[in-house]
Amino acid sequence: MALPEKIHLEIVTPDKQVYSGNVESILVPAQTGYMGILPGHAPLLAELGIGDIEFTADGVTECVACSWGFIEVLPDRVVLLAQEAELSSDIDLKRAEEAKARAEKLLASGDPDVDYAATELAVLRAMSRINAAKSATARQTMRKS
Ligand code: ATP
Repeated sequence: MALPEKIHLEIVTPDKQVYSGNVESILVPAQTGYMGILPGHAPLLAELGIGDIEFTADGVTECVACSWGFIEVLPDRVVLLAQEAELSSDIDLKRAEEAKARAEKLLASGDPDVDYAATELAVLRAMSRINAAKSATARQTMRKS
C-alpha cells in the first residue's frame, strides 16, 4: 500500500493554536534529540524539548520556536502540544536577543542567588527564537532572489 503524501499537523499551546494544516515533513525537537516525521510514521508519544519545529507545506518550509510539551504521532495526524510556541513570523527578534543577553549576563555574574538551571533554559529558549526568526528571514530573502 502506498504511503500518504501528507499528514495533518496541529501545533497548539494551552492558550492558542499556532498552526493547523497538511504538511509533507516535520522535524521536531524531542527531548532525546531532533526527530523527523514523514506521512505514514508509526504512532508514538514523546516529550518535546526546547528548539525549532520545522515543517514543509506545499514545498514551503516554516519554523516554529517551542519549549516543552508532548509530541503525539497518530495514524492521520501529528499533535504538538507545547508549553510555549511561536511561529517564526510572530517572533520579536529584538526581544529574544535582549532575553538572551540578560540571561547570559546573569550566568556570568557569579551571583549565588541566581537560578542557573532556569537561566540556562532561558538562554536556550531565546536562542531557539532567534534561530527561528533568522531562518525565516533568510528563507524569505532566498525566495525573493
Ligand atoms: P522574555 O524574557 O522575553 O519574556 P521568556 O523566555 O521569559 O522571554 P516565555 O516565558 O517563554 O518568555 O514566554 C512568555 C510569553 O511570551 C509566551 O506567550 C511566549 O510565546 C511569548 N514570547 C516570549 N518571547 C517572545 C519573542 N521573542 N517573540 C514573541 N513572543 C515571545
